[in-house]
Amino acid sequence: MTDLGHHSVVVIGAGFGGIGASIRLAEAGIEHVILEKAGDVGGTWWANRYPGCRCDVPSHLYSFSFALNPDWSDTYSLQPEIHRYLRRVADEYGVVERVRFNTEVTAARWDDGAKCWRIDTSAGPISADALISAHGFLSEPAVPHFPGIESFTGQVMHSAEWDPSYDVGGKRVGVIGTGASAVQLVPIVQRQAKQLYVFQRTAAWILPHRGRAIRPWERAAYRRVPALQRLVRQLVYLRNEFLILPALLHGKRLDLIRKMALDHLTAQVTDPQLREKLTPTFAPGCKRLTPTNDYLPAIAAANTELVTDGIKELRGDEIVTVDGVARRLDVLVLATGFRVTDNTFPARVVGRSGRTLREVWDDGSMGGYNGTTFAGFPNLFMLAGPNTGIGHTSLVYMIEAQLPYIVGALRHMRDNGVVALDVRPDVQAAYNEMIQRKLRLSVWNTGGCSSWYLDKLGRNSTIWPDYTFNFAKRLKRFDVESYYQEIAPSKARADLVYG
Ligand code: NAP
Repeated sequence: MTDLGHHSVVVIGAGFGGIGASIRLAEAGIEHVILEKAGDVGGTWWANRYPGCRCDVPSHLYSFSFALNPDWSDTYSLQPEIHRYLRRVADEYGVVERVRFNTEVTAARWDDGAKCWRIDTSAGPISADALISAHGFLSEPAVPHFPGIESFTGQVMHSAEWDPSYDVGGKRVGVIGTGASAVQLVPIVQRQAKQLYVFQRTAAWILPHRGRAIRPWERAAYRRVPALQRLVRQLVYLRNEFLILPALLHGKRLDLIRKMALDHLTAQVTDPQLREKLTPTFAPGCKRLTPTNDYLPAIAAANTELVTDGIKELRGDEIVTVDGVARRLDVLVLATGFRVTDNTFPARVVGRSGRTLREVWDDGSMGGYNGTTFAGFPNLFMLAGPNTGIGHTSLVYMIEAQLPYIVGALRHMRDNGVVALDVRPDVQAAYNEMIQRKLRLSVWNTGGCSSWYLDKLGRNSTIWPDYTFNFAKRLKRFDVESYYQEIAPSKARADLVYG
C-alpha cells in the first residue's frame, strides 16, 4: 500500500454531496482529493440499480441549483438518467480528475499533535487538514438475519446491491419489505416473474403518482429559456414546503393525504380482504410516503401473493413463515432498507478524546451542530449529517445549503491561520434541544410507526424539522463565534485562542 500523502481537504464519497463539495472547494481555491469506494461517481445513484429505481422527488428539484438539466425525460427521473446527470456534472466541473476510485475509508483519527486527520484507506494512508464526509446516510444496506439464510440455496440480493445481470424472468421471487425501494421494484419484477411473494411486515401509504414524460417542446423551451425551468423548480419547491411539510410537521391536512391514499387503494384493489391487509395502521407520513400507480395492481395480480405472516426461517430453497407455510424461491430480494442511525461510518471516526463518533452518539444519542460539525471532532464536516433529512423535498437542496457553511469555515481557517475548529458543546447541545423540541409533535415522532428516522433511543436524529429555507438561512454564514479555534503559533493573536 502506498502513502497517499497529505491534502488540505479529503472528501469522502463522490455522490451528490462529494461532487457538490468538490465544485465549491475548487471555486474557493481549496486543494482537495475525493476518496470513493466504488469505481464510478454517483453514490446512491450508482449503487441502486434495481429494476424500476427512480427518484420520487420531481426531477427539476432533484439536481444542483447551479447545474439544472433541461433534458430530463420524465418529471420523476429513473436512476440511469440521474446517474448520467451526475457523471456529466462531475466531468464538466473537473471533479472526476480529483477522485481516487476504489478507495474505501476504513478509519479516520484526529491527530491533536499534528492538527490533522489521519485516514486509513483500502489503498493506503492519507492525511488532511480537514475532512468532509459525504458518505451518505443511505449507503449501507440493512441485511436482517433470518435463521438459515447462510444455507439458502437460492440467490439473495439486497435492493441496493442488485445484480443487473440477474434475470427474474420466469423465476419464483420473494421480496421482503414494502418501503420506497420495494414499491418501485415490485411492479417490474411481478411482470417478469413466474411467481412473486411480497413479505409485508407493515403496510405502506401508497399515493397516486403524478409523473409523466416531459414533452420534447418543453425540453426545448427549458434549453432556450433557462429561467422557465427555474420557475418550475421554484414552484415545485414552494408547493412541497407549504403544502406537504406542514402536514408532516404539524399534522395539518393529514386527513387529506389519508383520503387520497385510501381512495387510491379502493380504486386499484377490488378484493376487500387484500385491501384490509394493505391498509396501514399508522399516520401517513410517519414513514416516507410512497407514490406509485403500479404497486397495488402488481400486488393484486394473479401471480402475486401478499404474505403478512412473519418470516420464521429459510430452509434449503424455501422461505418458511411463522404459520408453518413453506414457499419455494429462486431468488430472495431484500428491500429491507439501510443502516441509518446505526451506520458503521461513525464507528470509524476517532475524535480528540480518543472516542469514536459512534461512542459519543451512543451516550447522548446522535447529534451534531447544523447537521455538519461535531464537538470534539475538530475540522470534521459532514454532508447530509444528523437532522438534515427531509421527507417532503430534495436532499440535494439540504446538501447545497451546507456547502457555503463548510467552505466559509475552511476559508476562515485559511485566512486566519486556524489549525483547529471545534464547535462548542454548549452551542451543539442548545441546537439539538431546539431540534428535538420542534420534532416533538411531528408525525415522524407521533405517527405510531417504527422507521429509520428514529434511533435506538427513540430520538429522531435524522429529520430537519422546519422549512428547508430556514436551514439554508442558518448555514449561509459560518458562525465562528460558535466555535473554539486554535491558531498556528506564527499567526496566533490574542483574540483567536482556543477556549
Ligand atoms: P425502508 O423504507 O427502510 O423499508 C424497508 C422495508 O423492509 C420495510 O417495509 C420494513 O418493514 C422491511 N423490513 C426490514 N427488516 C425486515 C425484517 N427483518 N422482516 C420483515 N420486513 C423487514 O427502506 P427502502 O425502501 O430501501 O427506503 C429507504 C429510504 O431510501 C427511503 O425512505 C428513501 O429515503 C430512500 N429511497 C428513496 C427513493 C426515492 O425515490 N427518492 C427510492 C428508494 C429509496 P417495516 O416497515 O415493518 O419496518
